[in-house]
Amino acid sequence: MTRATESDVVVVGAGLAGQLVAGRLRSAGARVTVLDAGPAAGRTLPAGKRAFEARIAPWLELDTAAWPFRSDRRSHDWPRVRACGGRTLLWGGWMTAPSQGYFQHRQARQAPWPFDPALLFAQLPAAERALGVREAALRPAFAALRAAGWPVQGKREATAPRLRRPLTAADLTRAVRTIHGAIALRVAVDVAGRVRGVEYVRGGRIQLFKARRVVLAASPVESARILHQSPRCPADGLGASLHDHLVAGAIAITPRRLQSPPRRKGEPSSRGAVILPCADDAVRATVELRGPAGLDEFDDEDLQALGFDRVQARRRSYFLVFAMAETDPRAGRSVSFDGDERDAWGRPLPVFHIGKPTAVEHATARALRRRVLGAARDLVGPDGIVHLIEDGSSPTGAGHESGTLAIGAPGTAVLSTCGEVHGVSGLYVADAAGLPGATDGHPSLTIACWSLHVAEAVTAGLSS
Ligand SMILES: Cc1cc2nc3c(=O)[nH]c(=O)nc-3n(C[C@H](O)[C@H](O)[C@H](O)COP(=O)(O)OP(=O)(O)OC[C@H]3O[C@@H](n4cnc5c(N)ncnc54)[C@H](O)[C@@H]3O)c2cc1C
Repeated sequence: MTRATESDVVVVGAGLAGQLVAGRLRSAGARVTVLDAGPAAGRTLPAGKRAFEARIAPWLELDTAAWPFRSDRRSHDWPRVRACGGRTLLWGGWMTAPSQGYFQHRQARQAPWPFDPALLFAQLPAAERALGVREAALRPAFAALRAAGWPVQGKREATAPRLRRPLTAADLTRAVRTIHGAIALRVAVDVAGRVRGVEYVRGGRIQLFKARRVVLAASPVESARILHQSPRCPADGLGASLHDHLVAGAIAITPRRLQSPPRRKGEPSSRGAVILPCADDAVRATVELRGPAGLDEFDDEDLQALGFDRVQARRRSYFLVFAMAETDPRAGRSVSFDGDERDAWGRPLPVFHIGKPTAVEHATARALRRRVLGAARDLVGPDGIVHLIEDGSSPTGAGHESGTLAIGAPGTAVLSTCGEVHGVSGLYVADAAGLPGATDGHPSLTIACWSLHVAEAVTAGLSS
């Protein structure tokens, strides 16, 4: 039997964005095929955390020789996953809903989003349903933070009913046909500017998968690279901006061992907590609180660095506290694909133009450190010990990148407000490439809303 090489829609990328789009289009009756560069997830992934981690460990080893990049910063980290599920295989499933306060804040700082956020809010209930978002009860330690004046609430997490770990995009694959190990190189476009399909390489052979509609969801830098390699795609606004989160973090060690109450039925898999930004915050940051866990989880070397031996560690617990705020939207960062270097498949290498942190980012990093250290000290009290482990100053490496494709009018931007590429009929981008900021918290629920918004436009286009 020969495999079909044609669908109504091809989705490139089996991460969060790609799976949500593919699922939505399939429910609308479209024939959908997903192409993903990485290995298959298998029919089902283990429900428990440890077995899950053991299964996916080999997929997390990125072949950096096959996926190289360049940057003007020596210490540039670019966390990515080339496997079905994408970066959700690494995540904690923290879900932060897009908020009016964030969009107003951006407006007030002369960096508004290029479309009405109502488009995203309209998709929020569907996005939360698709990702199984649930909120944890507050643990006693976090309730104590509330008593100290922090507006803390339980972690909201993407968790499917029987999973004892966060949901991943790989858990959403079942109903959609996926071709694994298929690296999309470019979109094929006819002389009239209509999409013909996707050219991809698999097992050393270049092939065409035909479709009238193509949705790119390969993550912001990869989707931009595929567009850059495709005929008739706009150059203005391609790669012209790049955003991420600044992240500060601390470990807070308690003077005694804390007991964790058992997880109740229907609760998320891990019961952390968050402190969301307040309306009057000059720096809009979300604080993520994890723990308590036994300090003896660390190996001897780490314990020594923290100043404890194993016996002392058995009598103590620890929390991790992270705060994130988006990078300066006016920092002028970008990614380009115009260098001479090519990878094994003839693709140009992404070149990141990051530069130094701006004055706004220095101030943001200071605010993040204050928030992290303040919350950490209030968690463990005066007898506890707090160490800063990340200082909030790096404008790359959070793994929350966005904004490589400008949204706006034809001639000045790449995408329309429904994610369609100007000048190419039937070509869409559904990942965070179109979002001009990482938001003021965990970004994926906002990305999911955007992906579903794009899926709606693709569905409408199918019947025309
Ligand atoms: C360590 C870590 C923790 C995180 N924790 C959270 C969290 O708790 N909450 C939250 O909201 N967000 C979190 N994030 C961010 C979140 O993981 C991303 O926002 C989300 O996964 C983005 O999904 P995506 O589908 O756009 O991209 P990705 O997940 O990157 O998926 C892209 C997919 O495209 C495929 N691909 C790439 N190039 C090609 C190509 N040329 N051809 C074919 N396929 C290709 C890849 O194999 C991959 O499957 C975290 C990120 C990291 C790194």
